[in-house]
Amino acid sequence: MALNNGTKRGVFLALLILSVALKFGFPVQAQGRPVEVRILERWVDRTVEVRIPAGTSVQPGFAGNGRLLIKASESQLLLNGNLVLGPELHIGRPVDSSTFEIHWKGRKRKYPGMLRVRAESDQLVLLNVLPLETYVSGVVSAEMPESWPLPALRAQAVLARTLALKGGDHPGGRLCDLTHCQVYAGDRNSDAVHVAQETRGQVLTYRGALIQPLFHSTCGGERASNATIFGGAALPYLQEGTDPYCDGSPHAAGWSVRVLESELAHALDVDQLKRLEVIEQSQGGWVARISRDGFPMTGYRFWQAVGKQLGWGVLKSMRFNVRHEDNAYVFEGKGLGHGVGLCQWGAKGQADKGIPHARILGSYYPGTTIVHR
Ligand SMILES: [Zn+2]
Ligand SMILES: [Zn+2]
Repeated sequence: MALNNGTKRGVFLALLILSVALKFGFPVQAQGRPVEVRILERWVDRTVEVRIPAGTSVQPGFAGNGRLLIKASESQLLLNGNLVLGPELHIGRPVDSSTFEIHWKGRKRKYPGMLRVRAESDQLVLLNVLPLETYVSGVVSAEMPESWPLPALRAQAVLARTLALKGGDHPGGRLCDLTHCQVYAGDRNSDAVHVAQETRGQVLTYRGALIQPLFHSTCGGERASNATIFGGAALPYLQEGTDPYCDGSPHAAGWSVRVLESELAHALDVDQLKRLEVIEQSQGGWVARISRDGFPMTGYRFWQAVGKQLGWGVLKSMRFNVRHEDNAYVFEGKGLGHGVGLCQWGAKGQADKGIPHARILGSYYPGTTIVHR
């Protein structure tokens, strides 16, 4: 078939763009579309220092070296003491080769890609914009130890990509860098980069739609359904089930914690707490509802309240029983996390036995299919 002029011109332009891209290292299709992640919201408030390599683009431009002291003043930004003209600062570009370092309160982290900064009522909003596959490898690095077997890392990569494309539970589908979405800390190890490349484009779907890729650290042998933990309609691929593979986890054997009555009352924002009872539990022991002095609340709300007030490590999971002892409550439980979807230690256990990532994912999300996006 003869090419018409328009097609020829199109082919020529495509070749031209490709040759420019190869020459200058632009990410044309090579790193996927950009993802936007709000970073360090819990850590950074009014001021931050950003360090950039020489030649990094900063918009609006400024005269200075590679140290940017940025401050929020109501809804305006100050850069090295000067008012920024415009609502946002754009530092770097959303490609792998662009990097920046954030320093705050004696700590620092290095990130790939671009940083967008704006001020919202005296608070800095930091957004890291980076290629999809770069983000995927960043999540795998933060969510699983580098020493873990590759099939487990591959499974985590597919989940990370699925959530990135589905979008987070924040305005505009934006992602945060915490467990709430999935942990992301900028840095990437080489195995994580490797598995992101190997699984490139793979996402998990149920009847053609991206799944809700919930996962947790350790179920301790019994997983929970989404309905038990979060309420609402039960999703067919997030049902409860057994898991014989996570007994290598340090959290599988069981844990016990004693919390003073008064501490628990404070966490639940009540004056006193005379009786605490689990009133609804899954077969595996995951708490759906709990009653405090006759008032029922969801297990998840209880868990969140205790986590926020007393620390997230106190009640490691929602799989527990509770009893009263003197002036305290004793919780005895198993596992770490909410127990829904993939169990990370179970995925490691399966990978140690040579089970490939597609089968690992199939075991935790029955009825789902890996497709390429
Ligand atoms: Zn989030
Ligand atoms: Zn498990």
